[in-house]
Amino acid sequence: MSCSCTSSPTTNVNEEIQEKIKNHPCYSEGAHQHYARIHLPVAPACNIQCNYCNRKYDCSNESRPGVTSGKLQPIEAAKKVLYVGGEIQQLSVVGIAGPGDALANPKKTFETFKILQEKSPDLKFCLSTNGLKLTEYIDEIVKYNIDHVTVTINTVDETGEIGSKIYPWVHWEHKKLRGKEGAKRLLKQQLEGIKMLTDRGILVKANSVLISGVNDKDLPNVAKKLKELNVFLHNIMPLLSAPEFGTKFGLDGVKSATDQEVMAAQEACGMDMKLMSHCRQCRADAVGLIGEDKSEEFAKETFTSKSFEELEEVYNLEARVKKHEMIENWRKHLEKANDRIKIEQATKEELSSTSQTKLIAVTTGGEGMVNMHFGSASEFLIYEAGDKAIKFVMHRKIESAYCSGPENCDNNPIEEIKETLKDCDILLTEKIGDCPMDELNSIGLICDESYALQPIERSVYEAYKKHFTCEEQEAG
Ligand code: SF4
Ligand code: SF4
Repeated sequence: MSCSCTSSPTTNVNEEIQEKIKNHPCYSEGAHQHYARIHLPVAPACNIQCNYCNRKYDCSNESRPGVTSGKLQPIEAAKKVLYVGGEIQQLSVVGIAGPGDALANPKKTFETFKILQEKSPDLKFCLSTNGLKLTEYIDEIVKYNIDHVTVTINTVDETGEIGSKIYPWVHWEHKKLRGKEGAKRLLKQQLEGIKMLTDRGILVKANSVLISGVNDKDLPNVAKKLKELNVFLHNIMPLLSAPEFGTKFGLDGVKSATDQEVMAAQEACGMDMKLMSHCRQCRADAVGLIGEDKSEEFAKETFTSKSFEELEEVYNLEARVKKHEMIENWRKHLEKANDRIKIEQATKEELSSTSQTKLIAVTTGGEGMVNMHFGSASEFLIYEAGDKAIKFVMHRKIESAYCSGPENCDNNPIEEIKETLKDCDILLTEKIGDCPMDELNSIGLICDESYALQPIERSVYEAYKKHFTCEEQEAG
């Protein structure tokens, strides 16, 4: 296992791929705190039914169930990209991920990319699909330079038994194929489609929804198959399930997967291929850094009322290029400061000489720094640390931040936060009040503010040594 730090995110990745992913926040672990993405909700229809999806809402393959995004026409969507790209210069990726399936709406999906190819040539294009129509649209995917595709694949069970519990029907050649027949067709199309993509040099990320009791045992087989197909990243997402989502699983009482179940599944699959730990289920109209969502700030009227000429000025390609150069410079400094102490996919033995590791939670507003107050954080980065090295494990989201305004003071979500961080040992944050600190101490969590405004990875490593290495404690 070679050691890699933030800006060299994957082992065994050649330079061409490195170049393709270096500013893609979903494909590069080093990029996700620096670059933003925008999702364009131009694809409302879907051609399959998943039991974790309620079609009144966004596609649950990349979005959280129960979230609804406004819909846009291709021209409106392209205008939005230019407007947002000017306002958020870190924007590097445009994705189509719903509200339905990108390839069940080929006309709108490809028309949008066609306009953007001309208007915003510095952006990367990305789409997310259930994979049913990949073989049919492979030429368009190549033609429009969509060099990142996410396919949701939840099982590789060839009998269709597991798939039939996830997909009640699949729409294929003007017929609804039900049960095992539909599941087998979907799997065939997914595998053929993924192969076509990787054969053409398109980077494929696979998402698998962890549904305990349904596909959990099959996920290592999924990971193995994806590796054979040269899939670049595998992302295990928890099933999010509740009766109020109105999904079949929610109504049947199938439980959400816990963070601990996701970590166990990641570990069971991790030997087979590179896993992605920083994917969040985000809206089909998400805007901003991964983990933040500024979609509400960009109402339709703000960009549809402007002409393309006006918007090209707002976009300001030259200024964007400069901004991206600055980000890359900053990343180089960070890399130096972090001093190569992060290993991706490391085992406990590689992290620690005693095989004992600790989980460390961090609050951040981006740029690779411990730069967010506890009260403002609505998610935590979770690292695993030992005396030899650290690794990034996952993001954990909470419904709302501890401080969400004076009106909610008596109604803070401390119990949810305690539940979210119950297996963590240290919290690194820029600042935390006495009340929440006492609450977190009561579950054995050490809150440490001494790494405020310091690089995250180096801080995680130092904090581990400070609090858990005997020699260090004695010396201190
Ligand atoms: S592919 Fe997406 S939109 Fe279609 S049913 Fe599945 S989760 Fe829903
Ligand atoms: S969430 Fe999926 S579709 Fe969106 S930018 Fe990331 S990889 Fe692309």
